[in-house]
Amino acid sequence: MAVTKRVTLTFDNGPTPGVTEQVLDALAHHSARATFFVVGSQLRQPGGRELAERAAAEGHRIGHHTATHTLQLGVAEDAEAAVRTEIAAVEPDVDTVAGTSATHGERLFRPYAAGGVLDKRVFSTAAIRYLQEHHYTCVLWNTVPRDWEDPTGWVETALAAVARTEWPVVVLHDLATGAMTRLPEFLDGLAALGAETVTEYPGSCVPIKQGRLQFSLSHLTDGVD
Ligand SMILES: [Zn+2]
Repeated sequence: MAVTKRVTLTFDNGPTPGVTEQVLDALAHHSARATFFVVGSQLRQPGGRELAERAAAEGHRIGHHTATHTLQLGVAEDAEAAVRTEIAAVEPDVDTVAGTSATHGERLFRPYAAGGVLDKRVFSTAAIRYLQEHHYTCVLWNTVPRDWEDPTGWVETALAAVARTEWPVVVLHDLATGAMTRLPEFLDGLAALGAETVTEYPGSCVPIKQGRLQFSLSHLTDGVD
């Protein structure tokens, strides 16, 4: 018996009024659930919070994807200050929408990695410690079809990557690049592959699970563990 292929869909850097609605409509049409990794500045813009609340109400997961999406935690001159401004300052906003806290639900965090590159700029020791102490689950990725660079061709790239990846965690962006107009085609393509969209993450993409370190992050930080 063939094992159903699981695919986890994630939408980063939003919410974006005018785009996130399209994404939510397409997901609803396909009965697909995803995780939205929201940026604080996007959440705080007019209409941003309402979109994140709609996503949560429709069964999607909401995660924290930094306050400004401009400062890599491993590059900041003052690592502790970066944790305060890029993670802690937005935590109450994300918690409220996601329905999470340090003691309730599963707080999700995804670092800003400047183009999806997983290298030593991604984390600082201070950030890793903060995520552990505040019971975060850290969600990385394994499939980046670079929809922002190739808004017309990313679907074919993504479907090929999905086909060759055991359990893809796909990073897409609900941004005004035009790429999301092809999301329905991508979802049709996933169905044609027999893939099932799930809201869980493979262990290989979760280095921290509810505050507990699952594997070394030494490849993602210059800090000493
Ligand atoms: Zn991002």
